[in-house]
Amino acid sequence: AQARYIQRHPVSRDLHEKALKCMPGGNTRSVLHSDPFPICQKRGRENKLWDHDGHQYLDLVGELTAGLYGHSNPRLREVIVSTFDNVGMNLGGTTQEESRLAGLLCERFPNIQQLRFCNSGTEANIYALSIARHITGRRKIIVFEGGYHGGVLSFGHGIGANNVDQDDWVLGTYNDVESATALIKNTPGVAAVVVEAMQGAGGCIPATLEFLHGIQAAAKEAGIIFMLDEVMTSRLYPGGLARKLQVSPDLTTLGKYIGGGMAFGAFGGSEALLSCYDPRVTRSLPHSGTFNNNTLAMSLGFVGLSEIYTSAVNLELNELGDWFRGALQQIAEGTKMVVIGVGAALTVHFLENGKVPTNAHEIEENNLPQLKKLFWFWCLERGFWVTERGMLSLILGTTKEELGEFVGTVKEFAEEYSDFLTL
Ligand code: PMP
Repeated sequence: AQARYIQRHPVSRDLHEKALKCMPGGNTRSVLHSDPFPICQKRGRENKLWDHDGHQYLDLVGELTAGLYGHSNPRLREVIVSTFDNVGMNLGGTTQEESRLAGLLCERFPNIQQLRFCNSGTEANIYALSIARHITGRRKIIVFEGGYHGGVLSFGHGIGANNVDQDDWVLGTYNDVESATALIKNTPGVAAVVVEAMQGAGGCIPATLEFLHGIQAAAKEAGIIFMLDEVMTSRLYPGGLARKLQVSPDLTTLGKYIGGGMAFGAFGGSEALLSCYDPRVTRSLPHSGTFNNNTLAMSLGFVGLSEIYTSAVNLELNELGDWFRGALQQIAEGTKMVVIGVGAALTVHFLENGKVPTNAHEIEENNLPQLKKLFWFWCLERGFWVTERGMLSLILGTTKEELGEFVGTVKEFAEEYSDFLTL
């Protein structure tokens, strides 16, 4: 399969060789690296992609949830042009566009009374954690193994080496309510506990209700901040997974699709907590960023949420995702293939024990990277753009028929490799 991949992508290979000269690894997002070399994409339209070697794909990656609106939404194109013509790009002043989007997000997310913008989910988490540290006067943050909170806040294999201050992080086990509440109760100097309601990059592992509610209660009792990272999950239910699961985090972070496809991040919570960033308050924290209120993200975000990704459309897309995951799970039943997720975000795993994983450790112990790679080659060769780690997220407008074709391809894979897949 790898030999065919190399043979089918000579241009991508050349482009990678060139890129290697000026970027370590030949690209600028670690997640996009694949051996022997990544496929270089040339163009996207709606939910389709074309690579430099002339192949067409159905895009099932959806930019890891950020690409909700697809590559060429006509309404968003109009907004880009009209913003450019009637507002302009960088005004170096406050704008009505930013307060309009802020107002909409505060309405939509029940735990966000006030918020501020930044340029990525990573930044949103860093700024939000500063609030927790400022308010409590403590440094330590409890996070969970497999958690991903940004490029420098990654806990997939322990505490990410590029975290500046290693001693500031305490690592818990996801979905283990007893150990998590004990950590919260017994660790001295903790400012906040940060958790995803579904560990996205960690493999689309949903949190149990018991786990989230247990953390929330323990955090309250210990007087620390309970922070929910909804950068990836906010699109999985109107009002985010916090609303679906009835949890009330003190701080929430947002990102990805909300900027309508532009770089975006936001952090929010109660007015009291957010006042840390009120420049009128003495000894408030600085929060600047050239592009925080860039007019394109602010305008696209507003139109995207108010006109395109309405609550009804949100429910519909995630129902389609539930159907899609169910169809894949039927194929995976009784095999080493395991499909998990929430709504329109899911991951296809290959695990020795064939069991639904509840934390990063269970994935790592059972992971079958060779089967995973074989599956990846199989999908690419048949015109389906998927990530090597098996994560998929649906783009608006993707049809049941298109998803059905992918389900058929996965079925063929399961038949072809049944010897390797049978438990
Ligand atoms: N938090 C979560 C849960 C994420 O999934 C991501 C991105 N994958 C981030 C934070 C970081 O967002 P960004 O890539 O915009 O910095």
